Amino acid sequence: MAKIRFSALKEMAGRGPVEKIKKQRVTEVYGMDVFTMEKMRHYLSVEAFRKLEKIMFEGGSIDRMLADQVAAAMKAWAVEKGATHYTHWFHPLNGATAEKHDSFIDILKDGDVIEAFDGKLLVQQEPDASSFPNGGIRNTFEARGYTAWDPGSPAFINNSTLCIPTVFVAYTGEALDYKTPMLKALAWIDKAAVDVCQYFDKDVQKVIATLGWEQEYFLVDEALYNARPDLKLCGCTLMGHSAAKDQQLEDHYFGAIPERVNAFMDELEYECYRLGIPAKTRHNECAPNQFELAPVFEEVNLAVDHNQLLMSTMKRVARHYKFRVLLHEKPFKGINGSGKHNNWSLLTDTGVNLLSPGKNPKSNMQFLVFLVTTVKAVLEHEALFKACIVSLGNERRLGGDEAPPVIMSVFLGQQLDSILDEIETKVSSKKMSPDEKTELKLNVGKIPEIMRDNTDRNRTSPFAFTGNRFEFRAVGASANCGASMIVLNAAVAEQLVAFKQETDALIDKGVKKDEAIFQTLRRYIIACKKIRFEGNGYSKEWKEEAQKRGLSVESGCVRSLRAYLSTKAKKLFIDNGIFTERELEARFEIKNETYLKKLQIESRVLGDLALNHIIPTAIAYQNTLIDNVKGLKDILPNVYAEVGHVQLESIKEISMHIKEIKTMVNDMTEARKLANNTYENEVERAESYSETVKPYLDKIRYHIDKLELLVDDEIWPLPKYRELLFSK
Ligand code: ADP
Ligand code: MG
Repeated sequence: MAKIRFSALKEMAGRGPVEKIKKQRVTEVYGMDVFTMEKMRHYLSVEAFRKLEKIMFEGGSIDRMLADQVAAAMKAWAVEKGATHYTHWFHPLNGATAEKHDSFIDILKDGDVIEAFDGKLLVQQEPDASSFPNGGIRNTFEARGYTAWDPGSPAFINNSTLCIPTVFVAYTGEALDYKTPMLKALAWIDKAAVDVCQYFDKDVQKVIATLGWEQEYFLVDEALYNARPDLKLCGCTLMGHSAAKDQQLEDHYFGAIPERVNAFMDELEYECYRLGIPAKTRHNECAPNQFELAPVFEEVNLAVDHNQLLMSTMKRVARHYKFRVLLHEKPFKGINGSGKHNNWSLLTDTGVNLLSPGKNPKSNMQFLVFLVTTVKAVLEHEALFKACIVSLGNERRLGGDEAPPVIMSVFLGQQLDSILDEIETKVSSKKMSPDEKTELKLNVGKIPEIMRDNTDRNRTSPFAFTGNRFEFRAVGASANCGASMIVLNAAVAEQLVAFKQETDALIDKGVKKDEAIFQTLRRYIIACKKIRFEGNGYSKEWKEEAQKRGLSVESGCVRSLRAYLSTKAKKLFIDNGIFTERELEARFEIKNETYLKKLQIESRVLGDLALNHIIPTAIAYQNTLIDNVKGLKDILPNVYAEVGHVQLESIKEISMHIKEIKTMVNDMTEARKLANNTYENEVERAESYSETVKPYLDKIRYHIDKLELLVDDEIWPLPKYRELLFSK
């Protein structure tokens, strides 16, 4: 047993390589492995390029001839760069990315080998859908699924393979991925936002949603990782007493980046740049060995693809430095977990960030309309905002004293908050006097000044306005941002449509446009009051207050997921063509299934570790103590009389923990069996697991962690928190 620990530590002493990769200027490498517009222009005929460009920006379908031309261009570029394979690259609902590589090889009738790739292969393929989560959509007799090219996200080369971003749908047409419904939500918000922008600027023809994610992660030494079956199988530790020192001195955040980590980051960024991922910021996070990478924001679809690509690239590059990346939301108990803040805004084709206060009262009115409709979207769909971020990992992260609570609220900052209050009290449904109008316009005009001073950043809010964007902070580190982007963009689109309808109705009644906008805005401000919260989201008082306000305080994953099937969610998604009823049900089922399976694995791993690693070690140590007591009694009876009881206490204490662990592991197994046998339905089973199995994980770990402090360090079979978190 001791062997694992020693070998782990010995290898760790060797450390990973720290030598840096040869640095190149970012401008030299950026997008090197991406089939960018520039390359398309180079490899395509002028006519084909124009046709494709039009489709990329305006939508439309690609005919076979164009597809063949694009495929030939892509192949020519990729083969020149040394690519040997191609794959349709997509995001199935298991949260990862999927790819099945095919070689370019084809054999002609005369036996000659050629590199082949045509439009048919580019546009559509038929991978077997049966091994991906499908929530019952896939009929057993029809396992086929389709992947179809998404020209909105450029092809790239990863590890000698040409990767073509695609959507993934079942044979019957239902979406089996995140991208399909997200593209629909993005198209909807484009249209809804353009319609509202028309009140203010007739030139606006297109609005894109933008996303800048901030990826938090832990790095763990590879040798130590390999000696922790829980990390390997569950991505998180299921046991481990907190280190005597962790983050209490707050000495890690923004601290100097350790050399080996820095070398890893350099290579990671280099890989990012080649793939066209605009990595911008890197720093230490709050917890020891926790770090963050944030890019320059991009259009949502592209940003989501880039985040998926980043996560897999990170895992690959980390191995070069003998690190493993943990993207789990709560890999270590008692210290910060990892999130993925989703910074989101809307950008017009005239270059205006709709969530950035403008230069004059008119543009500030536009800003306020988009701000308030977003706040109202969060209120209307608070349960859905929660449902799209919950998971087993996030259940442990959120609501601890270091991550936003699982209660949705919006933070605007004191100054904006008071502007909204002012509009609420000053604007009335009757006609405003010219003086009132002037005063209000003056105040609205002052927003940019105010915003510059607004440095108050409330880190305790799950959804905060941060000057020129909203930051959705509840998203988990391992999540596909697509899940939250579908909800956020669809919910805001719905509010924008409603805002326009209500304002138009006033205009039709003869109210002047400016005044009509003010009046609708005021109604929205009043309507969304209860989701606005400026105080401390971590406090107990907020939970009580939120409950009084009628906000959902449910924190369990399984129950929160039900929001996907609520009447409100159906109205939002089904009526607007984002999901069909079947797709929505499938998503709900898949999320439950994932929760259930992960919990089941954790419970099994903990049981195995407890019985095979911990108890034998504790018994071995206990035997040493027993031998010691016996010897003492024989050789030094006087000393034994004096201190023997202390030794005996330790022996008894160890016995007690062993007994508790053994009993509870048995009980936990019984609880699993009972849940498995009682519930056919996976949703009910997941709920039962959450209520009857999950509590054992904490209870068992409590005793194991106590044993960790009692048993001789030399024979403890697992690397401890102080090693996992402090070897750099
Ligand atoms: P902080 O940690 O203080 O929130 P960071 O610099 O780590 O700030 O992250 C800010 C993120 O916000 C970056 O990913 C950035 O690209 C993103 N961001 C900035 N402006 C916008 C915008 N208009 N739309 C979307 N994301 C944005
Ligand atoms: Mg942030």
